[in-house]
Amino acid sequence: MGSGAEKSDVLKRVEAVSGDITRLAVDAIVNAANESLLGGGGVDGAIHRAAGPELLAECRTLGGCPTGEARITRGYNLPARHVIHTVGPVYRGRPEDEKLLSSCYRNSLALAAEAGCRTVAFPAVSCGVYGYPLEEACKVAVSEVLEFLETNPLPEKVLFVLFSEDALAVYQDRLKRLSAGQGS
Ligand code: ADP
Repeated sequence: MGSGAEKSDVLKRVEAVSGDITRLAVDAIVNAANESLLGGGGVDGAIHRAAGPELLAECRTLGGCPTGEARITRGYNLPARHVIHTVGPVYRGRPEDEKLLSSCYRNSLALAAEAGCRTVAFPAVSCGVYGYPLEEACKVAVSEVLEFLETNPLPEKVLFVLFSEDALAVYQDRLKRLSAGQGS
């Protein structure tokens, strides 16, 4: 079996959907947090509101999280069992941005696999107030996830959850191109 067949198997384990990540009954949702892990706006605020105050109480015990790393907590009142908090870079157009965003995806997936998560949902980390251009972030997100799945049985399935139809179209287009063998 060639690497082409393996790639298409891995592509079957990823999907882009639109919606509110706080509503998903998956094993883990990923939070685009900030280094304090004490809550913020955007998806972070929505996750804390839906999870309830116990999430913040657990986050307080973690002592923050450096950019590019990830931490796992329980999901409390969320339908998701776990929350994986990762801190994306503030976009400045430097090579480090891509390295840090890549490591957010890798570290989040490693925590998910370690916790036995079969299904994991990612928002577009860094693409809100942190200003990362969506198309560039999408390339990083998709390639890191596919690379991880190639060598790991868990998670079985990864969802990219986009908050707008425009963002969904960017991810779907990327996945379609890769399925058709046009990676660039
Ligand atoms: P960051 O600070 O990492 O940029 P934001 O929360 O500002 O994080 O935005 C990250 C992405 O999450 C944005 O694309 C935003 O539209 C999206 N988003 C905001 N709320 C939700 C939600 N409830 N579910 C899924 N995605 C969301």
